[in-house]
Amino acid sequence: MRGTLLYGKGDIRSETLDDPAILEPTDAIIRIAATCVCGSDLWPYRGYRDINEPVPIGHEYCGFVEDVGREVKTIRPGQFVVGSFFASDNTCPHCLNGYQTSCRQVQPIAGAQAQYLRVPHADGTLVATIEKPSDDMLPSLLTTSDVFGTGWFAADAARVKPGNTVVVVGDGAVGLLGVLSAREMGAERIIIMSRHEPRQKLAREFGATDIVAERGEEGVERIKELTKGVGADSTLECVGTQESMLQAIRATRPGGYVSYVGLPHGVRLDGGRLFFTHVHLHGGPAPVRRYLPQLIDMVNEGRVTPGKVFDLTLPLAEVADAYRAMDERRAIKALLMP
Ligand SMILES: [Zn+2]
Repeated sequence: MRGTLLYGKGDIRSETLDDPAILEPTDAIIRIAATCVCGSDLWPYRGYRDINEPVPIGHEYCGFVEDVGREVKTIRPGQFVVGSFFASDNTCPHCLNGYQTSCRQVQPIAGAQAQYLRVPHADGTLVATIEKPSDDMLPSLLTTSDVFGTGWFAADAARVKPGNTVVVVGDGAVGLLGVLSAREMGAERIIIMSRHEPRQKLAREFGATDIVAERGEEGVERIKELTKGVGADSTLECVGTQESMLQAIRATRPGGYVSYVGLPHGVRLDGGRLFFTHVHLHGGPAPVRRYLPQLIDMVNEGRVTPGKVFDLTLPLAEVADAYRAMDERRAIKALLMP
């Protein structure tokens, strides 16, 4: 099959790899219908992780079940499925509490930028759609696997409620879908911090009411002005840097909620300063599996079109161009068709 390997900094290649096989009786093999590049794939691509040997990459996927192990009970060959970027059993205490990405048997998915993928804990990880989706539904269904699920978690973890004022820090695909999620949860005012015109346009389409182009101290000042000096009820931090995290905390009113869903890189919080902010902090790898059935339904009903975040579509073989385009911020998010 065709698959993708990361060799090192800036070196990503499309190659012929062995087809994946069932290794555990709870595995399934999926024929990928659509996959994509995640913002978090850019961290190892940019050299933030030591790579000693070529590693398979990609963790967002949807497609058709080809084969299942002998202990798989609910997932069947032929079904169209979407799964989370972490495999989970969906039966342990953490899964039952809605935190499937902290599952006792959690296994990160890697190698989804390929034609076939092995998914562990198939019954727990995968959600089947009722019907085979049409091709134009694929991009939006694919987003439920991670980016929309993560945006939804960001809004949920920041307790967005009807009538709220919400700030979204970050105009990547997750931030943009955080805007969409906040709108769906009834937020009245949604302020996105963005300085990129095409992203601002999509943010408005998804429900943003205000755009703040300033950053850091100035950005916080601008949010305070827009909220009569009070700050936001809920802030979604969708970047993962020191600057974005401090911006999020300082834009939030005392008693407000800050969620953080971007993998933190070099973030250090001062306990004393945090103490006096009075904000609630909740984040982590989004438990996408919790939301999958609901988000798949919203897409199927045509209520939302999160697939609009894909502004570049390439054949899987051109994966290197997809990474380059996202790395250089020429594309918000690249869709890959096997
Ligand atoms: Zn579990």
